[in-house]
Amino acid sequence: MSPAYPLASLSSSNLFFSPLPPNHEPPAGKANHGRYMLTIPWSAASGHELAFDPLSGVLQYAVTCFEGMKCYKTDQGDLRLFRPEKNFDRFKRSAARLGLPNKWDNAELVDLLCKLLALEAPLVPTGDGSNLYIRPTLLETSEGYGIKETAFASEALLYVVTTLNLGKGLYASSEAPGKGIRLDACRDYIRAWPGGTGSYKLGANYGTVSVAKKPGFAMSLWLHSHDGEDYLSEAGAMNVWIIKQAADGYLEFITMGLDNGIVLPGITRESLIELLNDHASGKSSVPLPGLPTKLRVVERDISMSEIVTSIEDGSLKGMFGCGTGVVVVQIGEIQYQDKIHKIPHNPLIQILRDTVTGIQRGKIEHPWSHKVPEWDGSGAEKDREEDNVLA
Ligand SMILES: *Cc1c(COP(=O)(O)O)cnc(C)c1O
Repeated sequence: MSPAYPLASLSSSNLFFSPLPPNHEPPAGKANHGRYMLTIPWSAASGHELAFDPLSGVLQYAVTCFEGMKCYKTDQGDLRLFRPEKNFDRFKRSAARLGLPNKWDNAELVDLLCKLLALEAPLVPTGDGSNLYIRPTLLETSEGYGIKETAFASEALLYVVTTLNLGKGLYASSEAPGKGIRLDACRDYIRAWPGGTGSYKLGANYGTVSVAKKPGFAMSLWLHSHDGEDYLSEAGAMNVWIIKQAADGYLEFITMGLDNGIVLPGITRESLIELLNDHASGKSSVPLPGLPTKLRVVERDISMSEIVTSIEDGSLKGMFGCGTGVVVVQIGEIQYQDKIHKIPHNPLIQILRDTVTGIQRGKIEHPWSHKVPEWDGSGAEKDREEDNVLA
C-alpha cells in the first residue's frame, strides 16, 4: 500500500539552518515553544518544491499524522531520547495508512532530530517531569480533494516542532492517595472501532473527539460497545491498565490487546510490558522495588462492568494510564452513567513511573535511552535554501 518512491534525499549532511540572532526574543505567548523547526519537504516529482494549496489533502481531508516524543536532560546535562526509532517506525505505519511517503531512513531522521535538539539544548529543562516535547508531523501538501489517479500524495511535508513540559501538570497526579486523575467514561462519541484507524496516530482521530471532554475531568475514557457491554479502549491519548488480584495469588497487570486495531500501540505500554515480564521472570536488570515477582501481564478486553464489580469485590487494586505525555499516571475516579466510581490507590504505580522516568532521564542506564550527540551547528551555515532549512 505504500508508494514506491523513497525519501532518498533525507540526509543530515544536507542540513542547512539560519542561526537566531543573539538578541532573539520569542513573540508573546510563544515562550514555551522551541526556537527552531526542522522541515523536510518532499515531492514525488523533484524531492523539492513546496506549495500549500487550499485544496491540499491536509486541509481538505485531514491527511496528516504525527508522533509525540520527549527529550530529557540528565542531571549531568546531556540530552536523551527514549526509543526514538520506535516512534519513527510507528510514524511510517501511520503515513502508509494515509498514502503519505513512508520509506525514509529512521537513523537519518533520528540524526536530524538530534541536531535540532542540540540547537535547542539550552532550552531543555532538568528535573523530574520536565521535558522538551517533540512533535514530528507529516502532511499532504498536494491537492487532495477529487478522485486521484493514484491514492498516494504527490507532495508532502515532514516537520518537527518542540514545546516545553507537555504533561508536566499531570505529573504530580500519581503521588498521594486520592490524587489520581478523574476520567469521564464517554458514551456519546466513539474514538475507535474494529477495523477503524484508532491504532494509527492520525490527526483526524483527535480532532473528531476533542469535543467530548467534560469540564472537571482530565480526559475522556473511551469506550466501545458490543454484545451489550461497554469495553475500555483508551483514555485521552493514553493506554489504560488495571491491576487486579487474581484467585491464584498472582497480581495481574491487565491492558487492552492490540489485535482489534482499536488501541494505539504505545511505546510506554510496550516498555512497561517488557519491564513487568522481565521482573516476573527474574531476569531483569532494571529493579522494580516492591513489585511482587508473582505478577502477570495480561492483554485482553476490559469492560466497564468488570471495573464496577471488581471495585465492589475488592479485587481491583489500581488503575493507571501510560503514554509519552504523562509517562504513568494514577487514575483516581471514573464517571460512568452518572455515577462516580472511586479507584483504589496503588503505590506500585509510582514505582513503575519512577522506573520509566529513571531510564528516560538517564538515572538508570538502559539501552532504551538514546544519547543526543553534542552539536553546535557548525558546518551547516551554508547559504539558506528555501526548502531544506532549519530555521
Ligand atoms: C500516543 C498515544 C498513546 C501513547 O503512546 P506512547 O508511544 O506511549 O506515547 C496512547 N494512546 C493514544 C490514543 C495515543 O495517541
